[in-house]
Amino acid sequence: MKIGIIALQGAVPEHVSMTLQALNNLGLKGEAVTVRQPAELAAASALILPGGESTTISKLLKRFELYEPLIKAAENGVPIMGTCAGCILMAKEGDGEVEKTKTELLKIMDMKVNRNAFGRQRESFETPLTIKGLVEPFPGIFIRGPLIEEVYGRCAALAYYQEKIVMARQDNLIALSFHPELSADTRIHEMFLQMI
Ligand code: GLN
Repeated sequence: MKIGIIALQGAVPEHVSMTLQALNNLGLKGEAVTVRQPAELAAASALILPGGESTTISKLLKRFELYEPLIKAAENGVPIMGTCAGCILMAKEGDGEVEKTKTELLKIMDMKVNRNAFGRQRESFETPLTIKGLVEPFPGIFIRGPLIEEVYGRCAALAYYQEKIVMARQDNLIALSFHPELSADTRIHEMFLQMI
């Protein structure tokens, strides 16, 4: 089993290391591989779209010819987890800033995101989050993260911060406003691997 981490920009090594730890904890055989080419994407049984800058990652996905294959993979039931900028890109709709920057979203999840919802004051912070499916709270690390303003259709909320959605799932797809790869807690990566 190969878990592909889209490696165009952002928190790539952290996701690789977290995925390896999660595989180990679950007693699963598998590898965490970086993905920069369509053939590498096609060989992965699950994919992670890391945080970074959504405008840049969107352009790079097009340039590296990974944009269409990612949409196809989502349609074909491949589990995909997007964190922070990855969450923004998975959404069907963005806010004014997404439009202004002409960021092309993948539009694979029935949700609307607010790209820089936390503004300057609270750009980065950590807070315990109650997550559906996990018994103990999860340390949510937010770094200029988005908020999920609305979910509809097949998409459902899994976690809230101050009554706003910060994690959502739609069948094989999962999106998070925060950065589980920067914590020392492997439970979200384990939850994701169990979707395969
Ligand atoms: N706010 C950033 C964006 O618009 C995302 C920040 C992050 O991924 N840490 O892409």
